Amino acid sequence: MHELTLAQVAKGLADKAFSSEELAQTLLARIAQRDGELNSFITVTPELALAQARAADQRRAAGETGALLGAPIAHKDLFCTEGVLTTCASRMLANFQAPYNATVVEKLAAAGTVTLGKANMDEFAMGSANENSHFGPVRNPWHTEHVPGGSSGGSAAAVAARLVPAATGTDTGGSIRQPAAFTNLTGLKPTYGRVSRWGMIAYASSLDQGGPLARSAEDCALLLQAMAGFDPKDSTSIDEPVPDYSASLNAPLEGLRIGLPKEYFGAGLDPRLGDAVQAAADELRKLGAQVREISLPNLGHAIPAYYVIAPAEASSNLSRFDGVRFGYRCESPVDLTDLYKRSRGEGFGTEVQRRIMVGTYALSAGYYDAYYIKAQQIRRLIKNDFMAAFKEVDVILGPTTPNPAWKLGAKNADPTAAYLEDFYTITANMAGLPGLSMPAGFVDGLPVGVQLLAPYFQEGRLLNIAHRYQQVTDWHSRSPEGF
Ligand code: GLN
Repeated sequence: MHELTLAQVAKGLADKAFSSEELAQTLLARIAQRDGELNSFITVTPELALAQARAADQRRAAGETGALLGAPIAHKDLFCTEGVLTTCASRMLANFQAPYNATVVEKLAAAGTVTLGKANMDEFAMGSANENSHFGPVRNPWHTEHVPGGSSGGSAAAVAARLVPAATGTDTGGSIRQPAAFTNLTGLKPTYGRVSRWGMIAYASSLDQGGPLARSAEDCALLLQAMAGFDPKDSTSIDEPVPDYSASLNAPLEGLRIGLPKEYFGAGLDPRLGDAVQAAADELRKLGAQVREISLPNLGHAIPAYYVIAPAEASSNLSRFDGVRFGYRCESPVDLTDLYKRSRGEGFGTEVQRRIMVGTYALSAGYYDAYYIKAQQIRRLIKNDFMAAFKEVDVILGPTTPNPAWKLGAKNADPTAAYLEDFYTITANMAGLPGLSMPAGFVDGLPVGVQLLAPYFQEGRLLNIAHRYQQVTDWHSRSPEGF
């Protein structure tokens, strides 16, 4: 039963081949048995899962239908869940129980999903390897000496290891797409504003966006359908109708114009991953697409600009964790300053502290113009590059990452080495565009992903292209040996 995709689960439940309760029990047992090797969950929620599964079975018995009714999922541990720990993988929030559910959690629960647990992640979503978790690193089920990517590494590892058919993630600079690429999954970062951020613990508010991680584009469509939509509680949520993503999955690709940015194929890219992009382009050509070269001239400035803007916003967002109102508080502070300093010094991990310092520096008087304003100007140039490119092509294809998953610890000594791995993903966040990563091959037994980017609100187009691709390739259906 654990081999089933979300779409197959929907069919099995509709056909009464098994109940949601049976499925939840099977997967909970599998998590108990196998997650010791991966550490993909911070909290497993058997009681909640079985209660939700029984409720879903009753709703179905009463005649209700729905693709997600009774479907098991996991939530990244930065979505607030009422009555269940929400730690953000930080010591700061190790005991935090949110008093409410995130909108995404509410919407998925209303659709009938069953929450098996809260997935491990990089602390406050800062990282690309899931090694920055207070609860320990996550391992990649394809090769347990390697990282699963980050920051949604727990979500990705759990789905890739068939512990759960799908999971939520969040993506500020690649944290859905990059772990999807490293673990052979399909992951979608929606347009900024498509999915409510309410109840998502903020990292960098102008970049953060929640989305699905699953084994196919078809499954991502099911999850996004329930996650997307206007939310008056999020002032940056956009009031646009949500199209039927499953209905457009099979649309023909004849005449689709695909752009390959020439700046993507530089020295930083492992040539084997470049070959995977060309091979994917060839498959899409066979399906009727036209492929041409385009240019994104300001791409080279993206990483430095992102690593000013994201820490700047983080330094502001994380100022709320002060040891006073909620979260970790140090033992016996001598005065208020000592309380702030030690609570934050002891509660936050190294990478989070580094980002707070960088961000505070970039926002301080005298440096604001030199760093923060400059970075915002670069952000606009990057957006302009995309707007110009989308006059020539419908979607942009490229690698998701410059390299396959690295070994645990390989980049720990040099944080900027990990920052460079975000080269292909961060621009979508800076411009607010939707992006999808899909499986496109293997090197040295490790999965390789390719990324598609589209104009605002064209998530349906991305899912459509990925689905058509997945009907003529089988990369996405391969499972890691031993899982
Ligand atoms: N790796 C990037 C960072 O560390 C992106 C993380 C994310 O998307 N949450 O900021």
